Amino acid sequence: MAHVVTSPCFGCKYTDCVTVCPTDCFREGEQMLYIDPEPCIDCGMCVAECPVEAIFYEKDVPAEWKDFIALNAEMAPKCPPIVTQKAPLAAPPGSV
Ligand code: SF4
Ligand code: SF4
Repeated sequence: MAHVVTSPCFGCKYTDCVTVCPTDCFREGEQMLYIDPEPCIDCGMCVAECPVEAIFYEKDVPAEWKDFIALNAEMAPKCPPIVTQKAPLAAPPGSV
C-alpha cells in the first residue's frame, strides 16, 4: 500500500506536499506530482499539506480516481524527484 496523488493535483501551483515527506517519495510530472509507492511509508503527513485534498491512502482513493493508483506507480519511476517547494507547475490548458 501507498499514498496516491489524484486528479485535483493537476496544475497545482503550490508544491507544499513535498516538504513534509520523510522518505522523499514525490516525483515531478509535467502537470502534476506522483508518489513513488516503493519508498512511501504511509505516514500520511502529505495528506494534510495538500490544499486541494489530492492525496489519498491507496485504499481510500475515490472510485472515479482509482486509475491514479496505477498511474502513480507507472509514472513515478519516469519522473525526477522533487523535495523542495518550487514555482508553479504548468497551468492546465484554458486556465490562463
Ligand atoms: S500540494 Fe502536492 S499533491 Fe497537493 S495539489 Fe499541490 S502538488 Fe499536488
Ligand atoms: S504518506 Fe508519508 S511517506 Fe507517503 S508520500 Fe506521503 S509523506 Fe511521503
